[in-house]
Amino acid sequence: MPASSSPVAFVLHGGAGVLADRSYDAELTHMTQLAEAARDALQAGGSALDAVCAAVKAMETSGLYVAGKGASPNQAGRYELDASLMDGASRQAGAVAALEGFVSPIEAARAVMERTPHVLLAGSGAARFCTDQGLEPVIDAPGYYTPAAAPDSRAIATGTVGAVALDQQGHLAAATSTGGTLKKVWGRVGDTPIIGSGTWADERCAVSCTGQGEYFMRANAAADVSARVRYAGEALEAAVDGALGDVAQLGGEGGIIAVDATGAVCARFNSPGMKRAIVHADGRVEAGVR
Ligand code: ASP
Repeated sequence: MPASSSPVAFVLHGGAGVLADRSYDAELTHMTQLAEAARDALQAGGSALDAVCAAVKAMETSGLYVAGKGASPNQAGRYELDASLMDGASRQAGAVAALEGFVSPIEAARAVMERTPHVLLAGSGAARFCTDQGLEPVIDAPGYYTPAAAPDSRAIATGTVGAVALDQQGHLAAATSTGGTLKKVWGRVGDTPIIGSGTWADERCAVSCTGQGEYFMRANAAADVSARVRYAGEALEAAVDGALGDVAQLGGEGGIIAVDATGAVCARFNSPGMKRAIVHADGRVEAGVR
């Protein structure tokens, strides 16, 4: 692995919450490969935005996580997906909510960011936009979907994917994509496509959240991490713990991954596990679920 002059950093998550008696070997192998690919791309000069989009798209199309192909239907039997991304250097952001019929919601979110003056498109309008942009449609739904989640009795059961990165230019980016909470009500939108709740990036840090989105929205969790760094001078991990503590105080559970402009990396959770992979400063990749 070549040494890079400027630090790069990368963390991904494959969703909060793991089952005690299930093997996650396939996810661990997959996340390790994605983190290694992101590390190599970033060390070769690739952008943080490209790195987070590539990792999230690969997770969406793998069927291994509750996002994209692995998403579960809502109570009406429909597959409504949410995604967002943010480019820290420009503070540009894009998002889609309750999007039906497209293979990669994160690609749709990027198209919203790059090809419209808007931040968030929802529902049938978002789908029309994706068609107009020539984004890849799902053929043969619901057969395309292979719900990755096992039944879960918690009131708001979860699964999401996300990635955060720092590139050699010192730019930060974050991306998050989800099938939403299991058995969600038709039309429900969680934190994932809400900039500041599920995703945030600026010149200080990049953040992606997973967990019970209603609580992350009420805590404005992703932006809170940056606010803690900015206004309270907290180190990244303390800021993430503070934001997660606020979520917990409201009664919610989940996890947060983050990187900052110095290359610090962080993956914290109060849920029973969080699928994740971290690229450490020396280039070593560490993946875990519990
Ligand atoms: N946060 C997502 C949502 O509430 C779910 C998850 O992270 O698993 O839609």
